[in-house]
Amino acid sequence: MSDPSAGRRAVCLLSGGLDSATCLAIARREGFECHALSFDYGQRHRIELDRAPALARSLGAASHEIVRFDLRAFGHSALTDDIAVPKSRDEKQMSAEIPVTYVPARNTIFLSFALAFAEVLGAADIFSGVNALDYSGYPDCRPEFIRAFETMANHATKAGVEGALRTKIHTPLISLTKAEIVRLGHELGVPFGSTLSCYDPDPSGRPCGQCDSCILRARGFDEAGVIDPVRAV
Ligand code: ZN
Repeated sequence: MSDPSAGRRAVCLLSGGLDSATCLAIARREGFECHALSFDYGQRHRIELDRAPALARSLGAASHEIVRFDLRAFGHSALTDDIAVPKSRDEKQMSAEIPVTYVPARNTIFLSFALAFAEVLGAADIFSGVNALDYSGYPDCRPEFIRAFETMANHATKAGVEGALRTKIHTPLISLTKAEIVRLGHELGVPFGSTLSCYDPDPSGRPCGQCDSCILRARGFDEAGVIDPVRAV
């Protein structure tokens, strides 16, 4: 590539939640010029998208895109269909099965958009805040999925086949506990007050405090000894 900065460009998936914000902060710390990418896919908690532009700016992203498509056409998830979000589950219940908040093939879809954006930018690096530990039920958050996607990516694009770019999918949070992610985000100055993790917030964006995501977030902050500025009471 003729652009000397192109090799350090990265696409960073940004949902507006705690994990993706921390992941973007890590990419910035590693010196990448970060291009944030969010999705309006018809999610129940789409209010998270209201937070994403300010988050991207405050974390020093060079640009931020929101791509729109509607997974409610398929539904079949508590996040995209008329299915109740499970509440007040303990850890045993959370890890017993893939929960109804699983959105079919969501990370394959997200990473495919990221791959297309990266090829246009001339970026070899894609950052995703997926975490396999606290969401062990989600098949597309596991290391074997990420490795397989990376292999596929290098067969999938013009830049990959011609050898101009070798795509790498960075998942710096994949094996961290929620408490470790909170500590890391705290160190990196992530504005936690601008993040939203809840699957079922009220219309003003207040977290429900009872969904899996709220419970895991609260436990992470407690274990890290950090105050969550948006904690539900
Ligand atoms: Zn919640």
